[in-house]
Amino acid sequence: MKFKCPACGLRMNALHFKQAGLVNDQLTSICDLCLERGLSVDDYGNTAIEVFAGSLLYQFAGGKEDGKRVLKVSRETTRAFEGLLQDYDGSRLARQQIDRTAFNKAVIDSEDGKLPVPEMGADFADNLAKLGLKINFQLNDVDFVDRERIRTKYNYRCQYCGRRGHSVDHMHPVSLSHDNDLENLTLACSECNRIKSNMPYYLFIRLNRRLGQVNDQLVRYEDSLETLKGEFKRRRKQLTAEVRRSQTYRSPKLTEMRQHNKQLQDAIDSLQSDYDHVRALRKSYFETGWKLDQISHRTDII
Ligand SMILES: [Zn+2]
Ligand SMILES: [Zn+2]
Repeated sequence: MKFKCPACGLRMNALHFKQAGLVNDQLTSICDLCLERGLSVDDYGNTAIEVFAGSLLYQFAGGKEDGKRVLKVSRETTRAFEGLLQDYDGSRLARQQIDRTAFNKAVIDSEDGKLPVPEMGADFADNLAKLGLKINFQLNDVDFVDRERIRTKYNYRCQYCGRRGHSVDHMHPVSLSHDNDLENLTLACSECNRIKSNMPYYLFIRLNRRLGQVNDQLVRYEDSLETLKGEFKRRRKQLTAEVRRSQTYRSPKLTEMRQHNKQLQDAIDSLQSDYDHVRALRKSYFETGWKLDQISHRTDII
């Protein structure tokens, strides 16, 4: 949903009228750019926002008067600014790398003629460059050498559960700045990686913190299974060697060896099924945690 700011005249999404960080969420009659410009909400009325606020039980801050327009630019330039704002709002990388206040400041300077204006229909990166802003769109690429270094650093262990892992990840999903440096890279197993990528990072960490003992158990399951499977493989080889050596498929010794192998296979199967059970529980614990978190944030609908 888009609203027109009565002060600058730009059409923007509702997000720009929302004042975050308050005990009660508030919607203002003018946009965040104009607030940063130092304009007062009392000088501007905005019926659309007022109605919107009322229907959402938000607090509304704004005057009843239509104040003076601060932005006097051509229709085309207005469109270019709207496009730029839309690109920024829609780009996760942009929002991660350029904080909103800095972005708004650049836009305001551009509107005020201190910086060049963006161009309608131009590439987002080019428009940002005009405002002296830069985004690294390749930030998620970590080169091969670094990946190997990270794996060695963490001894091929998942840093979330402790099991074997080899997928290199950003701890803070390419956090607010730069961060491809080694400090922000960590190692995850494929299972944690899948779970983690399906939910917000902070929540994954918070939930995972409560799983210390479960994770320890998963590590023990994995280690035991690996040991048992290695042993099974070794015994299979011995059996083949014995068949070759004795030139027969049937002998009391072979029968005994086969029985032992069968017992071992049963033990492996049973352990594997216990392991899978714990893994499934852990996965649904994360899924449930995320669903509950979404429900608890449901008032946050704009
Ligand atoms: Zn405005
Ligand atoms: Zn893991």
